[in-house]
Formats: sequence, C-alpha cells, structure tokens
Amino acid sequence: MNSPLIIPVPILPFGMVHCHLIIGCDGCVLVDTGIPGSHARIERVLKQHGRSFRDIKLIVVTHAHTDHAGSAARLRELSGAPILAHAGDLDYYECRKEMTYCVTQWWGPLFLRSGVPGEPYQAFTPDILLHDDAKVPLDAYGIEGVARHTPGHTAGSISVELSNGDALVGDLIASGILLGGVMRLKHATRPPFEDDPQAVSGQLLGMVDAGLQRFHMGHGGPLSADEVRRHAHHLAGLKPGRRFALQPAPCGCSKRQLIEVLR
Ligand SMILES: [Zn+2]
Ligand SMILES: [Zn+2]
Repeated sequence: MNSPLIIPVPILPFGMVHCHLIIGCDGCVLVDTGIPGSHARIERVLKQHGRSFRDIKLIVVTHAHTDHAGSAARLRELSGAPILAHAGDLDYYECRKEMTYCVTQWWGPLFLRSGVPGEPYQAFTPDILLHDDAKVPLDAYGIEGVARHTPGHTAGSISVELSNGDALVGDLIASGILLGGVMRLKHATRPPFEDDPQAVSGQLLGMVDAGLQRFHMGHGGPLSADEVRRHAHHLAGLKPGRRFALQPAPCGCSKRQLIEVLR
C-alpha cells in the first residue's frame, strides 16, 4: 500500500478546529466530524481531492466532545460508512448522560457558559464499538494502521496510528493559543478540557516511544515527536483541573446552568 495522504479539513478558521481525511488507495477514512452542521465543509474538501461522501469507508470519532462527534450521525447518513468509537464515551454518543468537563485554563468556565462546547448533537450508536484496550486494524479500509483506545482526554478517547509514523490523536494534545490553532502552532498545549493529564502523558509517551513521528490533532498542529515528548513530560506532574457540568436550569427554561462537580 502507498503512504496515505492526511488532509486537515477546516471546521473553524486558523486551525482552531479541524477534522482529518486519510486518503488511502481504496477510499478515505474520516477522523472526527466537526461541530453539528460541518458536513458541507467536509464535502468541499472531498471535492477538492476528487472525492465524494461515498468514498468515505469509515468514520472514526476520537471522543464525544461536540467539535469531534457533532456531525457523525449526519455524515453516516450521507456516506453510508460505519462509525467507529469507544464504549467509554458511549453514554454521551447516545445522549444518555450530560458531559462533564475538567478545565485546563482559567477561562474554561466562561467558555463553558457560552454554550459552545456543550452544543447538543444528534445522538448515534457507533457501528463498531471498541471495548477496553481493543485495537481495530484499518487494512480493510485501505489504510495500514490501527485505531486504538488512548484514554485520558476522556474515558473513551481513541487514536489512529499509521504504520508510516503518523498519529491522529484527537484532543490528547493541542498546539497554538486559545482553543488551539491561530499562532504558535509548533508549540504543544493542553486543550481547554482534559480529564486526566497523567493518563494523557502516559499515552503520548507510549506513542513517541513506539516510533510515531508526526502528530495530528483537532486543534492546531501538526507536532513533531520531540515536542510531544516535551509536553508529555510536563503533563506527568499535573493533576486534573476543576470539573464542571451544564445542567438544566431550575426554572425549566431551555438555558442550562454551569455547576461545579465536587469529587
Ligand atoms: Zn475534546
Ligand atoms: Zn476538540
């Protein structure tokens, strides 16, 4: 098999949010799906590469945050491709539970109050559900590599590791400022939310030690293995931040209120 092409698909400007198309010899694997309503942006990039929704053979959703899972159900309808995700985030994919968020920045609660990170999306049940540490080979989709469980950002986070040294890691790491992107793209940062920095550190170090060289993520990037290693060592000494949830307001109106979840 030839080395696949990895194409970032802009969802928001300046690399703040993007998903990725992996274009292989037998079709495409879409890694993440953007916020709700992102299908037209993904279609535009498919067209630029002479492809259509029907060329998508698999949709990998790295985790249940709305900027990654937001258009998964719609893209499955449009492409007919199965969705692969991990059981650790299943309650959120099926919209059976409210997401909670461990903030990494002082402005995290303000960002949550804006309603943007918690924007609801169409519920879906993944067609291929990873359990525990299961790995799924991607050869059947024309790609040499695997999708596997890499928890830490959320309990059900997964990454795609390609045999040519590329890794697509969702939000295990970000680069740039604010959400990620905009500037300082070669400098690794934490995404705005992160459940367990020490678990993320272990996953990233494991990937670098396994020889993965180029890291592609949902916010900013790509990053070199050396920069990922530097960031992973920094994370190893950190504890999870304050955890928040958006809950229905007591007045019964559609507005949700932010509460801190105490451990
Ligand atoms: Zn995330
Ligand atoms: Zn994200």
